[in-house]
Amino acid sequence: MKNLLSVISPKHRRQTERLNARQKRNNAGGFVYTVSDEGRLTRFLVLGTDGGTFYAAERKHTVQATDFVRELVARDAALALRVTLEVVRGNRAPKPDPALLVLALIAKTAPEAADRKAAWDALPEVARTGTMLLHFLAFADALGGWGRLTRQGVARVYEDAPLEKLALWAVKYKARDGWSQADALRKAHPKTEDAGRNAVLKFMVDGVLPEGANDASLRVIEGHLRALEATSDADAAGLMTEYGLPIEAVPTHLRGSGVYRAAMQTNGLTWLLRNLGNLGRVGVLTVNDREIVQEVVKRVTDVEALKRGRIHPLDALKARLVYAQGRGVKGKGEWLPVPGVVDALEDAFMLAFGSIKPAGTRHLLALDVSGSMTWGNVGGVPGLTPNMAAAAMGMVALRTEPDALTMGFADSFRPLGITPKDTLESAMRKAQSASFGATDCAQPMLWAAQQGVDVDTFVVYTDNETWAGKVHPAVALDAYRQKTGISARLIVVGLTSTEFTIADPTRADMLDVVGLDTAAPGVMTAFARGEI
Ligand code: CA
Repeated sequence: MKNLLSVISPKHRRQTERLNARQKRNNAGGFVYTVSDEGRLTRFLVLGTDGGTFYAAERKHTVQATDFVRELVARDAALALRVTLEVVRGNRAPKPDPALLVLALIAKTAPEAADRKAAWDALPEVARTGTMLLHFLAFADALGGWGRLTRQGVARVYEDAPLEKLALWAVKYKARDGWSQADALRKAHPKTEDAGRNAVLKFMVDGVLPEGANDASLRVIEGHLRALEATSDADAAGLMTEYGLPIEAVPTHLRGSGVYRAAMQTNGLTWLLRNLGNLGRVGVLTVNDREIVQEVVKRVTDVEALKRGRIHPLDALKARLVYAQGRGVKGKGEWLPVPGVVDALEDAFMLAFGSIKPAGTRHLLALDVSGSMTWGNVGGVPGLTPNMAAAAMGMVALRTEPDALTMGFADSFRPLGITPKDTLESAMRKAQSASFGATDCAQPMLWAAQQGVDVDTFVVYTDNETWAGKVHPAVALDAYRQKTGISARLIVVGLTSTEFTIADPTRADMLDVVGLDTAAPGVMTAFARGEI
């Protein structure tokens, strides 16, 4: 009887049975939808594949994702480039590597010459720093050969980059991933008539400035050469201030408290966020020094500076997690975290999203706390599981929307006790400790219907590996709408780089967004209001 019913009625079809021909079986054995090319590429760019997923080891997950990117580049390189540039320009992704890989794939393997050229043209914009350029070169080199286009494309970066920026690269990023600026220059042979640029390029290759070179933009290199001769932390610190040297321009053995103090002025906000622990370790950032504490708090919560420094919310979250531990990830050194700085990093996470307008609709924020969500690293942050990232993104919505409730689900629905006053850390801890059981993404809609809770906007934070339910999420949403008369909508926040989603892409009342995409909150608001 049940079997016959399920054939004629979707209401009787389990998640392990196909609802319609457009569905595909996920890694957990349930049938779900697949995201669009754009959606899947965005997931790859924003979430990365580090640490794999519960269902796929890191290597397999990475291969699956990069196979998709390869295939997409072969099929529609123009789309791949457009999406990549949108993500880069909007500072929507926490890590540059996925974008650099996609760009290398287009530059080296796109079938149309015009697409390959467009990728090379975009290189200076995507590889904004020397490190990024060297990462790109490692990818491009692995994809084979230094043909004419590759040599020209790389040469152009060195020919066109503003001279001061190039001089900074020369002292700051000498080598990464087995690639050095010198290797790149020997292969690419950039040509320039400009004496200053020639001097910088020569320094990059030989480590010396040509006789008589005295362009103003060479100052940072002159300072670096003097710092190599310095004999104390204090001398090096003085040179950093005098020449505007970043800390990387100073030999490691000279990097004491004076050098770190100087770096607070000469290095950017990204460096500051990554080195709060080091600043504590060398005795610069301590509870005793209120002035330094205040300066750090002010800088990491300065909305304009966060924007200018292209700080992604995940940079702030990572800094918060590492700094509050009081010891380095690799066990290097210890420090006493200053509570005010920890709180400021919490704020920085929210502020880095930019201003988010509330939709004002009644929200049910449903976090998938099933076992699979406790596996893998989101956005390449060690120890940041999809479960924790879901809680952090849930906090963004919870603090934005005046009318929102956070719950957790696996194969049933339960309160997590998360409130807007929770810190990110406590919200993540609550979500983690609630982890239980099998996955049924229909639970939020079923629960709200059963309890008579009014919801305009269901937001489900999940890896989309649903399988345990008696009905499909879309069917549960329809049943909820029918029962309550509320034209409720469903937003799915995807937290892994798979191709799966519970949102039916053909339906206007369901939306799939990418967790930790800085563009997601704005899109979610517009969708909740019915504007898109
Ligand atoms: Ca699961």
